[in-house]
Amino acid sequence: MTYTNHGHHISGTVLNENNRPEHVARCGGPNLCKKCTADAAEAMDSIHKGPLLPANENYQTKAIRLVTEYVVTHLDKTDPVVPFEVYVVWFSKTLRNWKALVSTTLSDGMYYEVTYNGEAEETYVDAYKKFQNIVIRDKLTPAEMKLVGRPREFDENPETD
Ligand SMILES: [Zn+2]
Repeated sequence: MTYTNHGHHISGTVLNENNRPEHVARCGGPNLCKKCTADAAEAMDSIHKGPLLPANENYQTKAIRLVTEYVVTHLDKTDPVVPFEVYVVWFSKTLRNWKALVSTTLSDGMYYEVTYNGEAEETYVDAYKKFQNIVIRDKLTPAEMKLVGRPREFDENPETD
């Protein structure tokens, strides 16, 4: 299920433009409408229990599905279903192996690396949390020029979420 019965896209499912509903109810969707929330929860449940390799899947939708499953199983079960999108940031394939860097719209600082080992026919999901963001500029400011030769002082932007 990609859309609720009221016609709202269920976050965390892969958008399918071919079966986009003609009518979308003005109910507010999965965040505000009880029926849409129930439909979204059911969809997340079926994704979690779903078959391992749907026939219509490609590498990137597989990566999205695995991360969605991971996120859904790690959400706090006592919280209401949080709508979120899962998307591929970067993808590369070499011979039988591929790797996808995957992110979500959740503001949890999490980042996922999905790696397929074609030799072993196994997929690995690594979950990372953003720890720090530093800036290293190519061009130095005049103030920084005076510091050339001294140990670098990184611009610290610690995460504050
Ligand atoms: Zn609704």
